[in-house]
Amino acid sequence: MNQNIRVRFAPSPTGPLHIGGLRTALFNYLFARSHGGTFILRIEDTDQTRFVPGAEKYITESLRWCGLEPDEGPEQGGGFGPYRQSERRELYGEYAMELTRKGSAYYAFDSPEELEELRKTHEARGETFVYDASVRNSLKNSLNMEPLAVKKLIDAGTPYVIRFRFEADQEIRMQDIVRGEVSVNSSTLDDKILYKSDGMPTYHLANVVDDNLMAISHVIRGEEWLPSLPLHVSLYKALGWEHLMPQFAHLPLILKPTGKGKLSKRDGEKGGFPVFPLEWKDPETGQVSPGYREEGYQPEACINLLAMLGWNPGTDRELFTLEELISEFSLEKVGRSGSRFDPEKARWFNHQHLQMTPDRELGGAFREALEVKGIRCDKSQLETLIPVIKPRINFIHEVWDQSWFFFEAPSSYDPEVIKKRWKEDTPGQMKLLWERLQACEPFTVEGVESTVRSVISDQGWGMGTIMNVWRLLLVGEATGPGLFELAAFLGKEEVVRRMKNGTEQITG
Ligand code: GLU
Repeated sequence: MNQNIRVRFAPSPTGPLHIGGLRTALFNYLFARSHGGTFILRIEDTDQTRFVPGAEKYITESLRWCGLEPDEGPEQGGGFGPYRQSERRELYGEYAMELTRKGSAYYAFDSPEELEELRKTHEARGETFVYDASVRNSLKNSLNMEPLAVKKLIDAGTPYVIRFRFEADQEIRMQDIVRGEVSVNSSTLDDKILYKSDGMPTYHLANVVDDNLMAISHVIRGEEWLPSLPLHVSLYKALGWEHLMPQFAHLPLILKPTGKGKLSKRDGEKGGFPVFPLEWKDPETGQVSPGYREEGYQPEACINLLAMLGWNPGTDRELFTLEELISEFSLEKVGRSGSRFDPEKARWFNHQHLQMTPDRELGGAFREALEVKGIRCDKSQLETLIPVIKPRINFIHEVWDQSWFFFEAPSSYDPEVIKKRWKEDTPGQMKLLWERLQACEPFTVEGVESTVRSVISDQGWGMGTIMNVWRLLLVGEATGPGLFELAAFLGKEEVVRRMKNGTEQITG
C-alpha cells in the first residue's frame, strides 16, 4: 500500500452519473490501483438546490457494477470521514473566516437584486458585469467598510457571501499532468463566492478544503473543471497549503459521435444508445433513460470502452481486462484532445468481451435467455450451443434471435432464397440427402458432415447450392450458424422431419 497516493472521485448527486463521470471514476481507480494507492469516493452535496434523491445510491451502484469499489467512502468509512460534504458543513466556515482575516477573501453584502441591476446596466452598454478588482471598490463589501460597520451588518443578520479576492493583473501559473504548464491572468477571473451566510460553502471552497483534509495527492477530473483551477491553486496558496497542493490532471472531453461538442443525454436519445451506466428513472418526470447494464453490456466491456476514450496504451491494442488496465495505465498516456464516442464501437467492445468470456461462464446467461422463451436446455445442449452462437452475437439478449431454430422448426421460408436457389431437381436432391441422413450413424457433427459431403461429391452436386437449400429447409432463412452442428443438435428425426415438411410446403 502506498499511503502517499490518495485520489478521490467527487461526484455531486445531482442526477444519474454520465459515462463521462464514470470514466473519471475509472481513471482515478486505475491510477490508485496501479500505484498501490487509495481510491476515495466523496459525495459533493453542498448545493442543496440541485440535490436529486436516489442519485447517490445510483453512483454507488454504478461503481459497484463496474467493479470500482472505493477504499474509503460514505459506505466504506475510513480515517478521513465523513465522506459526504453535507456532513462536514461545520468545517468549512472556519476556513472562509481564516481567508477573510488574511485579506484573501471579503464579505459582500450586495443583494441579488442589486447585482441583477448591475448586470442589466452593463448589458445595456454592451458589457459584461464581473465582480472583480476593477469594480469591487465601488460595491457593498467589507473592503470598502469599517470593520465595525461590517460586524454590525453581520450581527443584524444581513445576508452576505464571502468572495475570494483576486489581485488584479497577476499571472497565475499552474501545472497539469495532461496539459503541462497552464497560465492565466487574474484580471480575467471574477471574485468567486466561497461561502454563503446560510452556512454553506460553495463547490470551490469545500472541494479544496476537503482535498487538503483528506490528504489527496492527485486530483483527476474532467476538463470542465480546468477553468476553476486558478481559483483552486490560489486558495491553496492563500490557506498556506501550497507545499501540500495535489497534482492535477484534467481529462479530455468525451465528444458526440459527430465529433463536435460534448456527448450529452440528448445524443444518446437521438442515436439510440445509453449515456448512463445504469438505467435511470427521473424522480420528477418519471422519464426513463437506458443504461449500459440493462442494454446487456458486460461491465468489463463498459470499462474497456471508457478506458479507450482519452487514454491509449501507446500501441494498437484495444482489448483489456480491468486487471490489464491497472498494469498498463498511466496519466502520461492520457491525451489532450477530446475523444469521439462511437456507439458502433461500443457494441464491438461488448462483442469482443463476450468472445473473451469462457463458454463455461456463459451457461447461466444462455440458460436464462432461453428460459424466458420457455426453452429448457440441459448441460450438454448448452455445451453445443454456446460455441456456435457466441461468435454471432454482441449481447446475450441476441441469443434467441440467433438460436430459435435449434428449438423450433421454421414456419415460413424466405421467398428470396427460394427464388434464387430452389430448382427443378432440388426436391429429388433433398430426398436423397434425407435418405442418406436417415442411415447416418452415429448422428454426430462429424457423422453428419461426412454423410453430407459424400452425397454431394458422389452426385457431383455443387456444395454451395445444396448447403443453401438445406439451410433453407432447416432454418427458413439464408443465414445462421454451422449446419452440421445444428443438425447434430436437432437429431436425426427432427432433421428429416424439417426437410420433408419444408420441401412439401415449398413445392406446395
Ligand atoms: N463535484 C464536482 C463534480 O461534480 C467535482 C469536481 C472535482 O473533481 O473537483 O464533478
